[in-house]
Amino acid sequence: MSPPSEISSGIERAKELIVHSHCTVALTGAGISTPSGIPDFRSPGTGLWARGEVPRAGSIHGFAADPEGFYDWLAPLLTRILAAQPNPAHEALVSLESMGYIKVVVTQNVDMLHQRAGSERVLEVHGTLAQATCICCYAAVPGLPVLERFLADRQVPRCERCGGVMKPNVILAGEQLPALVMLEARRAARACDVMLVAGTSLPGGPASELAELASRRQAQLIVVNRAPTLFDALAAAVIHEDAAIALPAIAQGMSGRP
Ligand SMILES: [Zn+2]
Repeated sequence: MSPPSEISSGIERAKELIVHSHCTVALTGAGISTPSGIPDFRSPGTGLWARGEVPRAGSIHGFAADPEGFYDWLAPLLTRILAAQPNPAHEALVSLESMGYIKVVVTQNVDMLHQRAGSERVLEVHGTLAQATCICCYAAVPGLPVLERFLADRQVPRCERCGGVMKPNVILAGEQLPALVMLEARRAARACDVMLVAGTSLPGGPASELAELASRRQAQLIVVNRAPTLFDALAAAVIHEDAAIALPAIAQGMSGRP
């Protein structure tokens, strides 16, 4: 993290950029949910995907070959996600949306905390736990009851229609990103004049593609992340601080769009 003077000047700069923007898009990653107790399961050395490698259980091939192994792997993360509450970072984005600045939140997270905090427009580029689909007949059902039942009885969830295995609609390694969601996310990245990137170090994947797209279109980037990111050099404001501290500080004292 940076010295306090750098953090506060970054926050002032971010406020200024957002107030003068016509369309701010937020782009969020795991770092916005770690203060809610959800581990960054893609980070090397932490959480479930230790050493930065996706275990076979967390890939679509692993899922297809061994659904039980997948659900065993998912259980500890799921327990944390279902118990988690939105934190001040999620709440600050809700304030900025209700003040008319943020038009959409694009997130790599599947934890639903943005929606639970009250964000109205959320694009989930890594899918969602809020729905589950049968891998045999493609019947789609609300995901949470399926997952809660699994945590209670530890049986692989089965389709009520055909008995096939149910898969939560999260994007596993080896799967395509959701096409329509990505289409909308790219549209938002092209349309915004400020992109507020929070809690992601942008190491490849959809987040870096979208930040790059926005930057190419002359959008100003604000980067809020504990550690340096690949986009710091391109950003108009860089704040190396916890998102749950920095985002409320940015929203504080701002009034709605006149
Ligand atoms: Zn089915």
